[in-house]
Amino acid sequence: MLCDREVTGIDQRGSGAVVVTASGDRFTADDVVLAGGVWGPSLAELTGLELPLFPVAHPYVYGSPAATWSPGPFVRWPEHHVYSRIHDDQLGIGTYDHHPVPVGQRELAAGAGLAWSEDLDPVIDAAQRLLRPEARFAPEHRINGVFAMTPDNLPFLGRHPEIESVWIAQAIWVTHAAGAARTLADAMLDRSDLPHELHLTRFAESDTATLRESALRLYRDIYANDAA
Ligand SMILES: Cc1cc2nc3c(=O)[nH]c(=O)nc-3n(C[C@H](O)[C@H](O)[C@H](O)COP(=O)(O)OP(=O)(O)OC[C@H]3O[C@@H](n4cnc5c(N)ncnc54)[C@H](O)[C@@H]3O)c2cc1C
Repeated sequence: MLCDREVTGIDQRGSGAVVVTASGDRFTADDVVLAGGVWGPSLAELTGLELPLFPVAHPYVYGSPAATWSPGPFVRWPEHHVYSRIHDDQLGIGTYDHHPVPVGQRELAAGAGLAWSEDLDPVIDAAQRLLRPEARFAPEHRINGVFAMTPDNLPFLGRHPEIESVWIAQAIWVTHAAGAARTLADAMLDRSDLPHELHLTRFAESDTATLRESALRLYRDIYANDAA
C-alpha cells in the first residue's frame, strides 16, 4: 500500500492499465479499482468518465466525555432525518434535516472536512430536541463532513463502460463496504455477475442537471427506505 501519492493519470495498456502519480511514478496493473470516495468524479474524469456522484456536506457533532454513557445502539429517528450514537463515553448526533449543501470537487482539494458553518447550529439544536432533556449537550466537536450522494441512493459498483481493466467502487458507505468488496472481488475473479442495479450505465439516458437534482433531493430522505 502506498500513501500520499496522488493519481493523476489512468491509461489503458493492452488488457491492463497504467496508473501515473503526481510524483511521476508509473504502475502497471491487470485491474484498477476506482474507490476515491467523494473525489470519485475527479478520479473517473481521468478515465474520460463522467460519474454522477454528488458530494454533499453533512453536520455531525459530539459532546465531551461523560461517565453517563455506556455502549448502546445506534438510534435513528427516520421521520425527523436524525441519528445519534455513543462513541465510548461521548454522545454524538447528526442530522439530514436541512437544505442539501452540494460540495464541488475544488472545495475538496484540501480534504473532506469543511469549516463549520454557523448556519448548521440551529439544525443541530433542532436535532438535539429529540434527545431527552438531560441528554442534550454542548457540542465539543463539530464536523462538517462530506459524503457522496447518487441519483438513486445506491452505490456504483461495476466495470468501467469503456476500459475493461478499470472497475468502479464509489458511493460505498461503511455499512455497504464488506458486501460491496466481496461482490466486486467475485466479479473480478469471474465468480459471479455484478448486480445490474449498481452499474453506472443505469443513468446513461439522463442529463447531469436532472441527476444532480435527484441526488440532492434524496439527501434529506436518506432514511426513506427505513421509514417505508
Ligand atoms: C459525518 C459523516 C457521517 C457518516 N456516517 C456514516 C454512517 O453512519 N454509516 C456509514 O455507513 N457511512 C457513513 N458515512 C459515509 C462514510 O464515511 C463513507 O461513505 C465512506 O467512508 C467512504 O469510504 P471510501 O473508502 O469509499 O472513501 P474514502 O474513505 O473517502 O477513501 C477514498 C480515498 O481515495 C483517495 N483518493 C481520492 N482521489 C485520489 C487520487 N486522485 N489519488 C490518490 N488517492 C485518491 C482519498 O485520499 C481517500 O483516501 C458518513 C460520512 C460522514 C462525512
